[in-house]
Amino acid sequence: MEMKVVKFGGSSLADAEHFRRVAAIVKADPNRRFVVASAPGKRSKDDVKVTDMLYRCYEMVREGKDITEHYEKIKARYNDIIKDLGLDFDISGELDYIRNAIEHYSGQDFAASRGEYLNSLILAKYLGFDFIDAESVIFFRENGVFDGEKTNDVMREELKKHQYAVIPGFYGVMPNGTIKTFSRGGSDITGSIVARAAEAELYENWTDVSGCLMADPRIVENPLTIKTITYRELRELSYMGASVLHEEAVFPVRYADIPINIRNTNEPEAPGTMIVSTTNEYDSECVITGIAGKKGFSVIHIEKDMMNSEIGFGRRVLDVLEDNGISFEHLPSGVDTMSVVITTSYLEDRRERVIASLNKRVRPDSILIEDGLALLAVVGRGMVKAKGTAARLCNALSSAGLNIRMIDQGSSDLNSIVGVEESDLEKALNATYKEFVKE
Ligand code: ASP
Repeated sequence: MEMKVVKFGGSSLADAEHFRRVAAIVKADPNRRFVVASAPGKRSKDDVKVTDMLYRCYEMVREGKDITEHYEKIKARYNDIIKDLGLDFDISGELDYIRNAIEHYSGQDFAASRGEYLNSLILAKYLGFDFIDAESVIFFRENGVFDGEKTNDVMREELKKHQYAVIPGFYGVMPNGTIKTFSRGGSDITGSIVARAAEAELYENWTDVSGCLMADPRIVENPLTIKTITYRELRELSYMGASVLHEEAVFPVRYADIPINIRNTNEPEAPGTMIVSTTNEYDSECVITGIAGKKGFSVIHIEKDMMNSEIGFGRRVLDVLEDNGISFEHLPSGVDTMSVVITTSYLEDRRERVIASLNKRVRPDSILIEDGLALLAVVGRGMVKAKGTAARLCNALSSAGLNIRMIDQGSSDLNSIVGVEESDLEKALNATYKEFVKE
């Protein structure tokens, strides 16, 4: 039998109405056997996520404050869901126990994790599924690193015992029995871990958008949804700030070659985006998969006659950066010039020191640091075969009257990066989108 692991994010489980949608989705396909749940998210723009409320409780206890009023609000979130769903389910014992534990310093991660724990108990009850506590199947090592192999072995055996089950996202257990969470948004990782252990055909990640978009909708109006994207392309786009999924969530399923399908709980008919390890198919009309942009970069321009024949020049430049704790993004270079693109914030307190060390180490003819650079990445597996992509990109930008400050075709064949003035980024993204995406 085909099998799917489904994960629902916080906004998909924020209130009873969303629980009903989730249940309809799960029940519509008997292959949706294992469900990973987040804590209740925001019900409206100004609402607060339960996870944030729990972190706040933990802080209040540390500050010696009384949490009664605050904790009542958390209780109300859960009790409202139970009542609205008409469930005969009493979690007051759980709620009292958790409050007491938070007040007795059971740890920040314990407090935060209770959001998914309680939500999953309720969802399991509502669906009529078993409940598997993540603390019995997800393990961290002594040093706090996730133990993928032990988890996979134990989880696989546990899942075999259940036909249908709900598993809370976001947390697992340390060797000493204390609860530990992944970083924020970590339920995506739990979903991926469960999919791998279950040897699922598909990992469905249900959220509040209909998949990955070809561009940031705050900048480009109504961008199209990406139908299929490879893990590598997704990585390039998310590095540039486009994110729908926790970065670490791709590893367990990628390892097992299980595709991820990003879906929208509020629009279940939409096919969403498929994230796959490889595919030769691409939209030949469009060539690109997506575009993204990011501000806040600086370029260190270094010039020196005969640089190209000076052995070790590049290494010495990078040594200086390393000594100053700076990582670099791109390294476009010419015969006698080398440019290093870095994140501007690195320079905050180190600008003078970096210039002085470079002068000393490589004795250049000139050094200039220019701030205010934005990078725009055009990503697409189709670009490998298509001719003239770089020319189209440059044309689109120059037709829009924009100045290109840097181009990096990149050693990866699936992206081109151009540097533009920060103030030009929005225009550049729109011009690029218009050039490549014909609607
Ligand atoms: N509830 C957690 C958070 O807000 C984890 C998650 O939703 O994935 O970060």
